[in-house]
Amino acid sequence: MPKIVVLPGDGIGQEIIPEALKVLKNVISQKQEFTFQEYAIGGTAIDKFGKALPEETLKACQEADAVLMGSIGGPKWDTLPAMERPELGALLPLRKKLNLFANIRPVKIIPALLSASTLKEEVVKNVDLVVLRELTGGIYFGEKGRNTQPPAAYDVLVYTEEEVRRIVELGFQTAQGRKKRLCSVDKANVLESSRFWREITEDVAKNYPDVELTHMYVDNAAMQLVRYPEQFDVIVTENMFGDILTDLASMLGGSIGMLSSASMAGKKGLYEPAHGSAPDIAGQNKANPLATILSAAMMLRYTFDMNEEAERIEKAVIKVLNQGYRTADLASSTEKAIGTKEMGDAVVAALS
Ligand code: NAD
Repeated sequence: MPKIVVLPGDGIGQEIIPEALKVLKNVISQKQEFTFQEYAIGGTAIDKFGKALPEETLKACQEADAVLMGSIGGPKWDTLPAMERPELGALLPLRKKLNLFANIRPVKIIPALLSASTLKEEVVKNVDLVVLRELTGGIYFGEKGRNTQPPAAYDVLVYTEEEVRRIVELGFQTAQGRKKRLCSVDKANVLESSRFWREITEDVAKNYPDVELTHMYVDNAAMQLVRYPEQFDVIVTENMFGDILTDLASMLGGSIGMLSSASMAGKKGLYEPAHGSAPDIAGQNKANPLATILSAAMMLRYTFDMNEEAERIEKAVIKVLNQGYRTADLASSTEKAIGTKEMGDAVVAALS
């Protein structure tokens, strides 16, 4: 029986996950039997068990076929020592322990949301790109520390050849299934790790002569993403660059609340919205649940090969947006916003 572990987490994670589950259970109800098991993670787990990633949560995730996660973190836990906080104490170790090295973030414009984008319609209307972000290496995982004489702090950026090769390979394979264009984003004019990344990328490219490879510096990539985003098909990049660029790219589609993501290790995946726990709107029924609902669709497609069901969810999301339903992050000053629960209900209704 396929096993899905559910980790609502903190802040709006507690509100968006129930909506995604509502949709997911509705779509798969007539199909296979799935088991859903909920576990604590992040600040919620610190409060309950004294640890951001309790052993039993980790074990359940290791044994699951897929993990559906909300988001973690929040000001309540910001004063804890760095390694005990939700991000460093749970999110990063979970990614590492599950070996989720490939984070996939698709940015495809939904026509009904063209006016929600902060960019001009003609700039964003044909955007259909995927960012592949390396997720278990780089500066987030290197040695970090402080010196006292003189006072200083450091985070080390390291990539092994294997780490670069496997994400770049996936980048080429993803591009092969799309428009056959891969843009590798680095900072090779300054960083040795980027020059290494570029050398390996060039080497991997020899096996994919059908894919057009380009390299771009990350500062230019940030500019190009708002200047002419249509030029991109697949972007492959390292951990921190991907983190920053995907938040930026989310606004092409109208809101960070629309950006879904899948973090993969083979068929196994962790699916979560790209955004955080949004403490500023938590507990107010204001969060947009669509990124999480779309992440659940990615789960059906990538882990369970349920393409038809995934498409049903994606079509239902487009339908509710076409019908004019908007959460506050998407609504213009003249549009009436609905709440998190109402948006989840609207998607469920649109499934039929
Ligand atoms: P955030 O993504 O939580 O919020 C940024 C802004 O976007 C806020 O104004 C928020 O209200 C808005 N927003 C985010 N998601 C939304 C949604 N679904 N609907 C409507 N509006 C939405 O980023 P932040 O404020 O920098 O971080 C808050 C906390 O989340 C921090 O503790 C951070 O470390 C954590 N975080 C966790 C993850 C994760 O769990 N994967 C990712 C990023 C940040």
